[in-house]
Amino acid sequence: MSTPPETLEELLTVTSSNSDRVHLALVLHDVVAPHTLCRLSVISRMPVQRFQAAGCVACAEESLQQGIKAAVEEGHAAVNLERFVRRMRPAPEVRGPRIPRQPTG
Ligand SMILES: [Zn+2]
Repeated sequence: MSTPPETLEELLTVTSSNSDRVHLALVLHDVVAPHTLCRLSVISRMPVQRFQAAGCVACAEESLQQGIKAAVEEGHAAVNLERFVRRMRPAPEVRGPRIPRQPTG
């Protein structure tokens, strides 16, 4: 009975205690998990703020690791978590020296 969630109906934006960010929590059979993906207690499933504006990066990264690429924001469109993480944490630029390939033999 533990199939990984695949549909985006199973990930909701929520609020948590001790945090003014918008977090993510899994939903199973219409019941919101007691903890967010970054392991805080879920307080409400109706965040005042938008995830794009005040989302929790730890939650977004955790959901991407679990293979969930979008979350449902109640009353709004789905949130693209890949784009969110990329915006919050731009990939470090690779500026190393070019290593020329040496022909072998
Ligand atoms: Zn979080």
